[in-house]
Amino acid sequence: MKHRENEEQQESEDADAGGRWQADQVLETETDVTCPYCGETVSISLDPGGGMAQEYVEDCQVCCRPWQVHVYYARGGAVEVTVEASAE
Ligand SMILES: [Zn+2]
Repeated sequence: MKHRENEEQQESEDADAGGRWQADQVLETETDVTCPYCGETVSISLDPGGGMAQEYVEDCQVCCRPWQVHVYYARGGAVEVTVEASAE
Protein backbone atom coordinates (compact mmCIF):
# COMPACT_ATOMS: atom_id res chain seq x y z
CA MET A 1 0.00 0.00 0.00
CA LYS A 2 1.30 3.42 -0.92
CA HIS A 3 0.94 6.32 1.38
CA ARG A 4 -0.54 9.38 -0.24
CA GLU A 5 0.65 12.08 2.08
CA ASN A 6 1.38 14.48 -0.78
CA GLU A 7 -2.16 14.55 -1.98
CA GLU A 8 -3.13 17.74 -0.22
CA GLN A 9 -0.10 19.57 -1.55
CA GLN A 10 -1.11 19.28 -5.18
CA GLU A 11 -2.24 22.33 -7.03
CA SER A 12 -5.97 22.47 -7.36
CA GLU A 13 -6.02 23.58 -10.97
CA ASP A 14 -8.53 20.95 -11.97
CA ALA A 15 -11.09 22.34 -9.61
CA ASP A 16 -11.05 25.64 -11.45
CA ALA A 17 -11.05 24.22 -14.95
CA GLY A 18 -14.75 23.71 -15.30
CA GLY A 19 -16.66 22.82 -12.21
CA ARG A 20 -16.35 19.95 -9.82
CA TRP A 21 -15.37 16.50 -10.87
CA GLN A 22 -17.39 13.76 -9.36
CA ALA A 23 -15.52 10.91 -7.81
CA ASP A 24 -18.01 8.41 -9.12
CA GLN A 25 -18.62 7.92 -12.81
CA VAL A 26 -22.37 7.99 -12.80
CA LEU A 27 -23.61 9.44 -16.05
CA GLU A 28 -26.64 11.65 -16.02
CA THR A 29 -29.69 10.07 -17.61
CA GLU A 30 -32.06 12.97 -17.22
CA THR A 31 -31.74 16.71 -17.40
CA ASP A 32 -33.87 19.82 -17.47
CA VAL A 33 -33.89 21.99 -20.56
CA THR A 34 -35.75 25.12 -21.49
CA CYS A 35 -37.85 24.93 -24.63
CA PRO A 36 -36.73 27.55 -27.17
CA TYR A 37 -40.30 27.86 -28.43
CA CYS A 38 -42.58 27.99 -25.41
CA GLY A 39 -40.04 28.68 -22.66
CA GLU A 40 -41.20 25.84 -20.45
CA THR A 41 -38.67 23.83 -18.45
CA VAL A 42 -38.92 20.20 -19.47
CA SER A 43 -37.13 17.10 -18.18
CA ILE A 44 -35.77 14.93 -20.95
CA SER A 45 -34.25 11.48 -20.80
CA LEU A 46 -30.68 10.96 -21.95
CA ASP A 47 -29.04 7.83 -23.25
CA PRO A 48 -25.41 7.58 -22.11
CA GLY A 49 -25.03 4.51 -24.31
CA GLY A 50 -25.50 6.68 -27.38
CA GLY A 51 -22.00 8.09 -27.18
CA MET A 52 -20.10 10.93 -25.57
CA ALA A 53 -21.46 13.41 -28.08
CA GLN A 54 -24.93 13.14 -29.49
CA GLU A 55 -27.22 15.19 -31.65
CA TYR A 56 -30.83 14.41 -32.36
CA VAL A 57 -34.29 15.84 -32.73
CA GLU A 58 -36.80 15.57 -29.95
CA ASP A 59 -40.26 17.07 -29.68
CA CYS A 60 -41.13 19.38 -26.82
CA GLN A 61 -43.44 17.65 -24.38
CA VAL A 62 -45.37 20.87 -23.88
CA CYS A 63 -45.76 22.46 -27.33
CA CYS A 64 -44.73 19.46 -29.48
CA ARG A 65 -42.35 21.46 -31.65
CA PRO A 66 -39.05 19.86 -32.66
CA TRP A 67 -35.84 20.70 -30.84
CA GLN A 68 -32.37 20.13 -32.13
CA VAL A 69 -30.75 18.55 -29.07
CA HIS A 70 -27.00 18.51 -28.49
CA VAL A 71 -25.64 16.28 -25.74
CA TYR A 72 -22.06 16.19 -24.61
CA TYR A 73 -20.73 14.03 -21.80
CA ALA A 74 -17.59 15.25 -20.12
CA ARG A 75 -15.16 12.93 -18.41
CA GLY A 76 -16.36 12.36 -14.89
CA GLY A 77 -19.97 12.01 -15.94
CA ALA A 78 -21.13 15.59 -16.17
CA VAL A 79 -23.42 16.20 -19.08
CA GLU A 80 -23.99 19.35 -21.06
CA VAL A 81 -27.20 19.62 -23.02
CA THR A 82 -28.34 22.41 -25.27
CA VAL A 83 -31.56 22.62 -27.22
CA GLU A 84 -32.30 24.98 -30.05
CA ALA A 85 -35.11 25.57 -32.43
CA SER A 86 -34.60 23.78 -35.70
CA ALA A 87 -34.20 25.92 -38.79
CA GLU A 88 -37.83 26.12 -39.74
ZN1 LIG B 1 -42.17 23.88 -25.99
